[in-house]
Amino acid sequence: MKYNYCPLCGEKLIIKDSWDEGGVPYCPKDDVMYFDTPKPCVVVAVIKDNEILLLKQSYIFKDSKVLVSGYVTNGETVEDTVYREVKEETGITVGEIKYLGSEYLPSKEILMLTFMAKYIEGEIKKSDEVEWVEWGKIEDALCEMHEDEIGKNIVRKVLKEIGYRGDKAYRCELRSF
Ligand SMILES: [Zn+2]
Repeated sequence: MKYNYCPLCGEKLIIKDSWDEGGVPYCPKDDVMYFDTPKPCVVVAVIKDNEILLLKQSYIFKDSKVLVSGYVTNGETVEDTVYREVKEETGITVGEIKYLGSEYLPSKEILMLTFMAKYIEGEIKKSDEVEWVEWGKIEDALCEMHEDEIGKNIVRKVLKEIGYRGDKAYRCELRSF
């Protein structure tokens, strides 16, 4: 996010040279530089044998199921965010977190850090911000997440990670050959 005024004191920011970064908005009164940084968030595919944890949140996608996601809170590591968001939204405890790469969402300036994590324990106990959460067959996930392109990318990576060999999981994909 680009700032023109200081969010702390309201003064108009000046541009200060910052070595490699070039000119950066700066408040001389508070001595703070406002770098144009994205908002980091995590997206997690929780796996239990051949099942995956899917959510329904109509404010994100009307007809698609999605993966667990949430913003990184200041003061925690992204791994902390993964444990916390899965626990808060679904009641499930996860472990063996594996980073699967990042995706950038320009329209919302969101940097999505994507993960897979293994189910450790707990029964599904959804939070109020989630409409619906269930275990689904991982082979059906790509069909059920048709609106969620980033989520589907994560599922494709998970299928590779678990050594999935079949064709069934990809039956809803548009083939370009
Ligand atoms: Zn200021």
